[in-house]
Amino acid sequence: EEPLFVTSHQTSHRVFNFSPGPAALPTEVLEKAASEMLNWRGMGVSVMEVSHRGKEFMEVAAKAKDDFRRLLHIPDHYEILFMQGGAIGENSIVPLNLMLPQGKANYLITGQWSARSAKEAARYGEVQIVADGADAQGRYQSMPPRSHWKIDHKAAYLHLCVNETIDGLAFNGLVDRGHESHQAPKDMPVVADLSSTVLSEAIDVSEFGLLYGGAQKNIGPAGLTFVIIRKDLLGRAHPLCPSAFNYKIVAENDSMYNTPPTYSIYLAGLVFEWLIAKGGVDAIAKVNAQKAELLYDTIDKSDFYYNTIDPAYRSKMNVCFFLRDENLNAQFLKESHEAGLVALKGHRVVGGMRASIYNAMPLEGVQALASFMKSFEQRHG
Ligand code: PMP
Repeated sequence: EEPLFVTSHQTSHRVFNFSPGPAALPTEVLEKAASEMLNWRGMGVSVMEVSHRGKEFMEVAAKAKDDFRRLLHIPDHYEILFMQGGAIGENSIVPLNLMLPQGKANYLITGQWSARSAKEAARYGEVQIVADGADAQGRYQSMPPRSHWKIDHKAAYLHLCVNETIDGLAFNGLVDRGHESHQAPKDMPVVADLSSTVLSEAIDVSEFGLLYGGAQKNIGPAGLTFVIIRKDLLGRAHPLCPSAFNYKIVAENDSMYNTPPTYSIYLAGLVFEWLIAKGGVDAIAKVNAQKAELLYDTIDKSDFYYNTIDPAYRSKMNVCFFLRDENLNAQFLKESHEAGLVALKGHRVVGGMRASIYNAMPLEGVQALASFMKSFEQRHG
């Protein structure tokens, strides 16, 4: 039997890509996609050129959904939707679908992305800011303590972001609804932006009413949005919600109410198969933890680099760091690029460097970065 993924020898020009998103995809997945580009399933066409309603593509979409469900242990009382518009689109689509009848929602601000979510939601109803983690300089370095959360118990839901991609700050499994100090009422759905952490470690889906995110970090190419929604939350949309963004209509039409981003779904399906072959989420989570530990360790042990995030909440996906001598930033980026380590420049709002190390970044890539950092420090420190 042919192996699912084969690695040819044409991959030596591939670099280690630390892009925050669209991000690196597994080389094996790209090779497989390339190999069947012109003649998919012996049909003499590419997967992009067939009807989304044909038997062949319907199989691809159904398998992708099943594999996603299997990988994240998504219970049967949750619907998986494949949509478009990205996570920023969902910042509007979520309130349009879930804010009624209360007309208000709770938003916890822990970084750039959740701040943006709250701002967008305020266009549709009343937004209660549960807490804002920004410090005096406007930086997000730690999570606002729960004792400071102000939850409006009459609001429709609580929104939060599990991993703040720009700030490099994450809940790290601490989104624990059952905990006494969590003040959200038990029946208030928690809605979470999972864009930059989905499939990187286990998450208990049943703790949430809705999870959403863009695909372009851990799942596949841009253009695809995933929504995981508890079925009882369907059917509450505002009358002005576009039909194509009405969760109930999307669910009833098996995410094919309008033409879905077929190539992105196909590629996401290959990434899911790749991850299953790797041993699934628990297996990759171990590698991810190792990768993050190695990088933070390299940063913490040096006097040349530093990271400012509260250690309990350091992101395992987006590792932000600074050079003490900011004058060396350009040199660092130039030399790292020459060493085949690309896209390390930090987000303009935060500055410094950021290494995004999603599932497709192998341990060897992070080892190469850590060695480069040490050697750069020796040469310039
Ligand atoms: N939320 C988070 C956590 C993100 O990382 C991003 C993308 N970087 C977004 C929202 C916005 O996603 P999109 O560009 O797909 O709308």
